[in-house]
Amino acid sequence: MTSKQHRPYQYRFIREKDIPDLPDPIHLWVLDGAVPVRGLSALTLISSFDPWASKICSCPRKYSLSPYTGCSHSCLYCYITSYIPDPFNARPKKNLIRRLARELSRIDRSIPVMMASSSDPYTPPEERLQLTRSTIKLLLAHSARFLVVTKSDLITRDVDLLRRASAAASITVTTLDCDLASKLEPSAPEPARRLRAIRQLSDAGIPCSARIDPIIPGLNSEREQLQLLTRELSEAGVRQITASTYKARPDSYRRLVRAFPSNERLLRRLYWESGEGLAGSRYLNSSLRLQLIMTVKEAAEAYRVRFASCREGFTSYSTSASCDSSHLIPAPLGASGTVSGETPSQSTMIRL
Ligand code: SF4
Repeated sequence: MTSKQHRPYQYRFIREKDIPDLPDPIHLWVLDGAVPVRGLSALTLISSFDPWASKICSCPRKYSLSPYTGCSHSCLYCYITSYIPDPFNARPKKNLIRRLARELSRIDRSIPVMMASSSDPYTPPEERLQLTRSTIKLLLAHSARFLVVTKSDLITRDVDLLRRASAAASITVTTLDCDLASKLEPSAPEPARRLRAIRQLSDAGIPCSARIDPIIPGLNSEREQLQLLTRELSEAGVRQITASTYKARPDSYRRLVRAFPSNERLLRRLYWESGEGLAGSRYLNSSLRLQLIMTVKEAAEAYRVRFASCREGFTSYSTSASCDSSHLIPAPLGASGTVSGETPSQSTMIRL
């Protein structure tokens, strides 16, 4: 049973087309009786996270918020190129702070905000513009619970704010191999810097998870590579690792095989010949996916870190309370002091 089936609340999805700065169409949800929305356009920056209404996504309910449109990390495997124009050019959302201040007063604060799903909040323009930093200040002022997802160590600049907030961080590290990372994620900081960021965040008391996402056969899928990466992440202080295999879409697939021509035959065979179509993408077949996911799960257990997979259909192998690690977000100050979202039964799933 997926976590979506456990949802205890009532909600309905509504498609709205004319929302600036966001993919079209997007989904907004309206909680019955919980969110004081005065018409759908009341929320134009903050949306529900529901990637393509995917049935295979096990994410708990959350908002999604991106200070920027587009993302300059320019990862070869990125999926935003299928729906964001000029995707690798991060540009600020118009009137971000003014609009956000208005919208944050309207959201349900029990629901976490994820920043961000279609744009890393810490790409190079952020060093100068500091829009993510201003966004965090606003989230803090509104006592919002939030999860920052990034590949950049620039996040450590904002430790002073994050340690006072109901916030957790999720850092993506796909490989320890610097050369491979520089080809796969040309404008993102090198893996060693991301590991240092995890250490710094963890030392500051900010709950930190990591994503090994995506795992691409023939590139970063070797058993020993994944085990070593899991060990480095656990030693850096992550409390959860979420793993996910590469899901091919025509545009990202073309970029990958252009950059790694010697892998083309393997990738074509695994994705287009023996793979399967799922949720609008080409997936590896389920036995190969399970093999890769189990490699990370077993390593995570060996290093006493919780584990989940992302959009694989393997929720039963999870040892964590949420696939996205949003349960690590601490309760707001003054609350019971328990870890939000983690039930006693989930806490005993793995002894740590
Ligand atoms: S960091 Fe994420 S959103 Fe940005 S280019 Fe890479 S995969 Fe795409």
